[in-house]
Amino acid sequence: QITRRLASIEQALTDKQLKETAIKAAAEKNRHIFKTGFARLKQELNEATQYSEQLEEKLNQDQLTGSLNRRAYDKKIEDEMERFLRYGTHFSLLLIDADKFKNINDRYGHAVGDKCLQEIIKRSIPLLRKNDMLARYGGEEFVVIMPETDAAGAKEAAEKIRQTIGKIEFLYKKETVRVTVSIGVTQVKEGDTSHLQVFERADVAVYKAKEKGRNQVLVH
Ligand code: GH3
Ligand code: MG
Ligand code: MG
Repeated sequence: QITRRLASIEQALTDKQLKETAIKAAAEKNRHIFKTGFARLKQELNEATQYSEQLEEKLNQDQLTGSLNRRAYDKKIEDEMERFLRYGTHFSLLLIDADKFKNINDRYGHAVGDKCLQEIIKRSIPLLRKNDMLARYGGEEFVVIMPETDAAGAKEAAEKIRQTIGKIEFLYKKETVRVTVSIGVTQVKEGDTSHLQVFERADVAVYKAKEKGRNQVLVH
């Protein structure tokens, strides 16, 4: 009887051990599935983040010149205005408008006009600080936001841009093509509540620069 009893206890122990091994194996398998699933999820999330960053970059880019576009400008100017209203940090704005650009297109063709716009961007960027933002506002108009810069500093930068662009020589057949720009400069000031007021002043300044004969910088 004792031998039989012992045998049945042994059997029960073996069964229990087998069950435990099976449970452990199942747990290990689940852990593995979870781990690889989690790693895959993490990778997919990384890829999705990268993709959305690329999309965002494209959305902010101007097709023709590769520079930032109006959308990027709108975001940055809103940020700068908010910073000004909250902390009183100043910024300046340049509005650059190519002079008589319609004539360039009419005389030399749209392709030359396009090349001029690309070159204006290419030559202006090295003249700016790292924190400044140059964007194509539309057509033959560009904007530069200059954080923590007053109108005097912005005027200096604008003058450099104007002179640099004026010196570029484009070749059309055997003719030398030159482009000049008129630049309106303004800085944010007490009482401004919207970036539109800042833009409006820069716009008025450009208008006056045109009236006074073009190829010049005017501060409002
Ligand atoms: P102003 O000195 O008064 O600014 O004269 P403007 O001829 O530059 O001004 P207007 O606003 O009359 O004309 C702008 C011209 O810019 C007309 C348009 O053909 C040209 N333009 C706008 N966008 C582009 C572009 O992407 N490529 C080319 N080639 N030309 C463009
Ligand atoms: Mg214009
Ligand atoms: Mg123009």
